[in-house]
Amino acid sequence: MDLPASPRHITVLTGAGMSAESGIATFRDALTGLWARFDPEELACEDGFRGDPARVWGWYRWRAAQLLGCAPNAGHVGIAALQAGREITVLTQNVDDLHERAGSHGVVHLHGELLHSRCIGCGATQDPDPITRNLPVTPGDGQLETPPACDACGAPFRPGVVWFGEALPDTAWQAAVDALQACDLLVVIGTSGMVQPAASLPVLAKRLGKPVIEINPQPTPISDIADAHWPMGAVEGVAKLQAMLAG
Ligand code: ZN
Repeated sequence: MDLPASPRHITVLTGAGMSAESGIATFRDALTGLWARFDPEELACEDGFRGDPARVWGWYRWRAAQLLGCAPNAGHVGIAALQAGREITVLTQNVDDLHERAGSHGVVHLHGELLHSRCIGCGATQDPDPITRNLPVTPGDGQLETPPACDACGAPFRPGVVWFGEALPDTAWQAAVDALQACDLLVVIGTSGMVQPAASLPVLAKRLGKPVIEINPQPTPISDIADAHWPMGAVEGVAKLQAMLAG
């Protein structure tokens, strides 16, 4: 399939590779120090939280502090710049806010957001959000921290990310499907193509007849169905995309 010369609506799907050049630790790399003995499956699930809320809450608070010390990279900035003159929908598997800080609007967070939390009982939120309240300026090694109790029902607050075994938020998933239907190009950046159901989005795009460009240094399961695979990191790939669209 030919790539469209001047797409009016581009949907971008980003994963961990998008934020790697900003220094965001991958899931496994974030398991050091106090958390070294744990598997992601133990910390990032409701059973793990209920079994040891201070450990899980402390881990996410530590990651939130790390995130606040990172900045968007040229790839995030380049995607935001594409908004000029066309419609861009950003779907991300990342729980960071680097697309937003770079200036992208309406970012769809398929796996929730690290800087948001809610009551595990009734879903209430608090302002300012307790996941970032009084965070240390430097993240250090992190510490165990008891999550605050909900004013309304007394249940503990939990991180606002999607855990193992949980469904994606309905509104985010529907927004992703809508964006695939509306776009005339899907660009997939830095995702492994292994985490379902997000990995099914490029497949759905092809089924809808949309051209797909994949930007990833490594081949992935998406490479087989993509119309083009650009073997490079996110920053270089977004620059190439900008050049293609400008040309
Ligand atoms: Zn509550």
